Amino acid sequence: MNAIELSPRQSIILDMVKEFGPITGTQIAEKLSLSRAALRSDLAILTMSGLLGARPRVGYYYTGKNPTELIAGVIGSIQVGDIQSRPIVIRENCSVYDAIVTMFIEDVGTLVVVSEGGFIEGVVSRKDLLKATMGGKNVNDLPVTLAMTRMPNIILTFPDELVIRAAQKLINHQVDALPVVEMVQLNQVEKYKVVGRFTKTNITQLFVHLAGN
Ligand code: ADP
Repeated sequence: MNAIELSPRQSIILDMVKEFGPITGTQIAEKLSLSRAALRSDLAILTMSGLLGARPRVGYYYTGKNPTELIAGVIGSIQVGDIQSRPIVIRENCSVYDAIVTMFIEDVGTLVVVSEGGFIEGVVSRKDLLKATMGGKNVNDLPVTLAMTRMPNIILTFPDELVIRAAQKLINHQVDALPVVEMVQLNQVEKYKVVGRFTKTNITQLFVHLAGN
C-alpha cells in the first residue's frame, strides 16, 4: 500500500529508481523514451512525498522509507492551526435554549462559552444540554453557565501544538472537541482568547487528505 496514490507512470519511475538508483532525471527520461520536461511533475511528486530523494549531480535515489514512516513523518509536523475549524461561541449570559438553537444553526456538537472579548469561560456539549432539559425547568430561564463545564477544568489546545498531541488529549480526556486558544496577559491575569476549534472531524479530514483524496 502506498501512502499516496501513484499514477502508473510514477510507479514505474519508483520501481526504476529502486532498481537502478542513484539515477539522473535524464537517464530515467531516456529509459522511458520521454523528454526530461515530461517527467518533471512526476519526479516532483515522488520527491515531495518523501519516497525519492534527490542529490545534485548524483541523481534520484529511493529513500527506503515505508508508507507508515512517511505518514508518521507528515503527521508529526502538522500543527493544530493548520487544520482547525472556526470557533463557534456563545456569550456567558445566554440561556440553555439559546445554546440549543446555536448548536442546531451552526451544526456543531460543542459550543465554547465566552465572556466579552472572546475569553473562554467554559464548554457545553450536546449531553450537557440534554441533561439540563431533563430537570423539567424552563430552558429559557436556565443560564448556560449552569450546564457548562467551567474553566479551569477545560482541556485546551494551541495553534502551534502538534496535531498528534491534541489528538492524544481528545482520547485521554474522552471529549469530542478542544477549544483552540491563545494566551493573553490582562492586568497580570492569564486569559485565554478563543481562536478556533479542534475536533475529531478535523482529524478525519486530515486522514482522508493524507490518503490522497
Ligand atoms: P457529549 O457530552 O455530548 O458526549 P463530550 O464527550 O465532548 O460530548 O463531552 C463530555 C463532557 O466533557 C461534557 O460534560 C462536556 O462539558 C465536557 N467537555 C467537552 N469538551 C471538553 C474540553 N475540551 N475540556 C473539558 N471538558 C470538556
